[in-house]
Amino acid sequence: MITVLRIGHRISRDKRITTHVALVARAFGADKIIIDAKDKKIEDTIFSICNRFGGFFKIESGVDIKKIIRDWNGIIVHLTMYGEEFGKSIKKIDKSKDLLIIVGAEKVRPLIYEKADFNVSIGNQPHSEVSALAIFLDSYTRGLWQKKKFDGKIEILPTDKGKRVISKDS
Ligand code: SAM
Repeated sequence: MITVLRIGHRISRDKRITTHVALVARAFGADKIIIDAKDKKIEDTIFSICNRFGGFFKIESGVDIKKIIRDWNGIIVHLTMYGEEFGKSIKKIDKSKDLLIIVGAEKVRPLIYEKADFNVSIGNQPHSEVSALAIFLDSYTRGLWQKKKFDGKIEILPTDKGKRVISKDS
């Protein structure tokens, strides 16, 4: 089970990027996203995507992150540009355990660095929680996210030109 914890979410500024973090989490193999601030709109957006495109992805917002971290029974990875080299740390992570992946927004509190089992950098340049999460999940799942079945009401068939979409409602 892979859960993403999005911290530092500011409802007015981060709604688009946090939505993208949730969409990347869902598409690339995570089972759940938890967002620190309560944001009903993002919850509704992700429910709607899941309802149409399928899968069993879960979303919860408005949580006590200290409690989540304290009670976590598994591995905690914090994605940060200050962390250990990605290629080194990914080999050390015990994949048989539940995984909590923490991504930030602005400055991340020292507590997160302390509590994480692994502070992992995807390169040491600043970029984005969206890209960091996508690259991490691709490696962690060894690309198996590509085989994940969503079985949604809407299914998109790969094509070299145009759009091929099956709508199971019609
Ligand atoms: N100075 C911030 C920090 O503490 O890492 C950068 C904030 S960045 C806009 C937002 C989030 O993107 C970070 O909290 C981290 O999760 C992720 N991120 C950005 N660059 C990263 C990198 N090179 N490696 C891993 N994660 C990164």
